[in-house]
Amino acid sequence: MSEGSKVRELIISTIEGAVESSPDETTYRKPLVGFARSQDPIWKRLRLEVEPTHLMPEELLPGAKSAVAFFIPFSKEIVRANREGEAMAPSWGKGYIELNNLINSITAEVAEKLKALGVNSAAQPSTHNWNSETLVSRWSHRSIAYICGLGSFGLNRLLITDSGCAGRCGSFVIDAELEPTPRENKERCLYLRDGSCKICVNSCPVGALTIEGEGRCADIDKHGKCYPRLLSNEEWSGADACGKCICSGPCALKGA
Ligand code: SF4
Ligand code: SF4
Repeated sequence: MSEGSKVRELIISTIEGAVESSPDETTYRKPLVGFARSQDPIWKRLRLEVEPTHLMPEELLPGAKSAVAFFIPFSKEIVRANREGEAMAPSWGKGYIELNNLINSITAEVAEKLKALGVNSAAQPSTHNWNSETLVSRWSHRSIAYICGLGSFGLNRLLITDSGCAGRCGSFVIDAELEPTPRENKERCLYLRDGSCKICVNSCPVGALTIEGEGRCADIDKHGKCYPRLLSNEEWSGADACGKCICSGPCALKGA
């Protein structure tokens, strides 16, 4: 087995093992893992399309050669619980906190194992790494997951993977060369495929998502509507989460 394949296997088995043996009350489905080269020209698009100050892999880790992204999907029970009513399901709020912590611990565990092989890595926290004024992150895990071939964006602005969008992404960079995961040209959102669905937009309890703009994804009123909703949920649940636009549609559990 080549050095690159060994590193790849170690990363995949560590992520899968950590999810399988997680002591969390929250339950998960099998994670997806993807890889990309740090020299892929697509990285430049992040600055044009996502955030002009978005970090490049070499800024996170000098000498970075590859990026790794993983997506951990929530179990069906948690997703279905959060479809009910206008209020966030307590299990979704708990899941948001537990999964963010799990992603951070996975990233740390992988880093330690890679170090033993002489491979360096660097990561950003699973969440709350955004600018408090713009609410935009300089390291978007979901965009890295797109670059690493894990899915395509839907109307709800989320990455829809083959296991849906109801989960969370983690990512990190390493200074070893890995075979990239091909990015499939596959439309996983029904609205973007044939104009149907729009369930995500209609399920937002505060009307934060609109489709008047020309973009591929819905426009979001983050400051005026979405973030205040997350903060009000945090008051009673401890989680600045909501997830109605994630859980309600057919893309929650699988790519259409
Ligand atoms: S997270 Fe909640 S408030 Fe924010 S856009 Fe989605 S459904 Fe609306
Ligand atoms: S709920 Fe429907 S329209 Fe919204 S992202 Fe999912 S598939 Fe697309």
